[in-house]
Amino acid sequence: MRFLVTAGPTREALDPVRFLSNRSSGRMGYAVAEAAVRRGHAATLVSGPVSLVPPPGVRVVDVVSAEDMLAAVRREFGACEALVMAAAVADFRPVERSATKVKKSGAGLTLALERTPDILASLAPLKEGRIVVGFAAETGDPLAEARRKRRDKGADMIVANDVLAPDAGFEVETNRVTFVEENRVTALPLMSKLDVADHIVRWVEAAAQSRMSRPTP
Ligand code: C5P
Repeated sequence: MRFLVTAGPTREALDPVRFLSNRSSGRMGYAVAEAAVRRGHAATLVSGPVSLVPPPGVRVVDVVSAEDMLAAVRREFGACEALVMAAAVADFRPVERSATKVKKSGAGLTLALERTPDILASLAPLKEGRIVVGFAAETGDPLAEARRKRRDKGADMIVANDVLAPDAGFEVETNRVTFVEENRVTALPLMSKLDVADHIVRWVEAAAQSRMSRPTP
């Protein structure tokens, strides 16, 4: 299969030297691309700015902002059978980007922000036979949020994780995740991000397999 995987944060520029971003390291998405290649698939990574070495055999498309990531994913989507959106896309960006460095005049600064495009939600209606997997990094009730996101964004499966757990989420090597499908919830034990990635790739393979063997109505 051909996997399209997104990874890392996005940066939303405020001026030529400042941006809004988040703590995503990109490790989870890079691990998914690596696991896909290890299992004999082709993988393209659309990556926000991270300090990781791309896994061997993976094609990397570098992007910076949510808008760039949307354009790259749209371009690559037609040539994949599975999309895994592991990127922590910034939800908001400054309404205006100053061409020059914003000066510190006055006592404070109020930033006007607007929503970025939701890449996953915008691609899902075009997915046809593709398998689409999203992530939900939560700090509240991960399961309820993941269920809602799966439905709202039109994904086949959401990988839910509690980013406040000390051994899961951002900037660590391990993760404890739950696979949330339409009719099934599977909690995985604590494991390395590469092992989580391997489970995701196998899940995608099984989903594609069951789609192929399903009789046409
Ligand atoms: O809504 P939330 O950001 O929690 O959703 C997480 C999922 O949606 C992830 O798979 C993420 O890559 C994707 N996403 C997206 N575009 C956005 C925000 C999130 O594709 N603007």
